[in-house]
Amino acid sequence: MYAILSFDTEDYITPESDEIALDVAKILWEEGLRGTFNVVGEKARALLMRGRQDVIRALAQHDVTVHTNLHSTHPTMSEYLEDKGWEDGVAEWLLREEPGVKSVSEIFGRYPIAWNAAGRGWGPQAGAGLRRLGIPLLQSSKTHIRDGDVHWFAGTLTYPMEHALPDCGKYYEDDASDDDYEWFDDILGNDKAFEKKLLSFANQIEEAYRKGVGFVNLCMFHPTKLRSLAWWDYINYMDGVNPSRDAYKMPPAKPQEEIERALINFRRLITFVRDQTPVQLLTLSELVGVYSETERLVSLKDVVEMATRASDTGELFTEDWRASPAELLYLLTIWAENPNAFASMGMEHVCFVEGPINPAPEQYQAMSFEWPSLQNLANRAREFIRLNQRVPTVLEQNGSHIGPATLFLALAHALALFSLKGSFPRKIQVQVGSQTPSIGEELSLDVHQNVPGWVHKPDLDVSLIALHTKLQSWTLRPARLKR
Ligand SMILES: [Zn+2]
Repeated sequence: MYAILSFDTEDYITPESDEIALDVAKILWEEGLRGTFNVVGEKARALLMRGRQDVIRALAQHDVTVHTNLHSTHPTMSEYLEDKGWEDGVAEWLLREEPGVKSVSEIFGRYPIAWNAAGRGWGPQAGAGLRRLGIPLLQSSKTHIRDGDVHWFAGTLTYPMEHALPDCGKYYEDDASDDDYEWFDDILGNDKAFEKKLLSFANQIEEAYRKGVGFVNLCMFHPTKLRSLAWWDYINYMDGVNPSRDAYKMPPAKPQEEIERALINFRRLITFVRDQTPVQLLTLSELVGVYSETERLVSLKDVVEMATRASDTGELFTEDWRASPAELLYLLTIWAENPNAFASMGMEHVCFVEGPINPAPEQYQAMSFEWPSLQNLANRAREFIRLNQRVPTVLEQNGSHIGPATLFLALAHALALFSLKGSFPRKIQVQVGSQTPSIGEELSLDVHQNVPGWVHKPDLDVSLIALHTKLQSWTLRPARLKR
């Protein structure tokens, strides 16, 4: 099981937090380990302005990624994407986040390999934005697949939030006790509580290993929180309010003795993870290398296998590394162009296809197609995808609206039957449950439950963010480990 050690380095308000990041980077280096520092754009600029070349140099010896441009400053990512659709949302994300990427690259002297959202923030447009910026990995996504961990979403490599350990337990629930801590932030300075947490942490790693998880992000703590008693952003940015620079509140410091104790226990924590747990520690760059792919080629046999599975289950399944539902739809339309000739074709190159950008009307009633009309629909869908690299929202035929999932399943049935019998039935019948993969509904629910709160404005409406997350579930597929 692969793992990284990651540290969100975000507090641009408190100068003393720079020092702790330096200590953490040095201790990792002394122990022969390389961590991942997720640095906020504004924090990188603050380090430069405060003349902390020593901190910049020490962090640059590890992997440095981007942890948003402005973190908790309003509007946060979910706030500025609240009223956005897909294309305007991607443009807005690039406008707001590219300056952070630029600052981190310039200040640390290397183009970042990953990006992660702040707090409970989320926007599916980040996946598409990162693809355009050539940043390969979106960390801690609010997406997942049913079987597997590292996956592709909106054309970008990612892994689910739940694969960050330690599990914060009941910390966020009403009946949390003093034993429920958030990561290691507030526990490293307390020997007794730390030893107890270390044991449960080791158990969580063991459990993930036993379940066959391929990758875990060991999200250690936030360096600023090792020295501060309060969250720098909670006291300044709560409920959607932006303070002016001269009104910044400084979080009170922990006693010096506790900070020193925390650094001693930190060394124990990382050496314990290195020596006592079944993880292979990697840098994030190495991890991306392990999962990245240069090209995907599929044969007719692959397409028939995937079509048959879709036809048998009636599912737009997201568990096949060879193609996402969006990409399989495109492959099916290529087959439909000339069903007999396709068999003589060699390997087909799979190109990324985006999910639809608007919801199609749901059509739960059964529909039936004769082959010529289905072929006509497939031809139009194929032309649309070629032009736009995206699944069409809806197609019209003789006054009725055909959603993309209806077309997908009708083509899957047609190919499954054709490969068995060498001919088409008189009618191809199809009944779909939803116009998006069924996992899309789970993702949407997760957005509604987990994005509001944190420092967000109290009336944040996440409906559009949830909708676009669900629509882009068309792009989900597992990442494949390079052998
Ligand atoms: Zn953060």
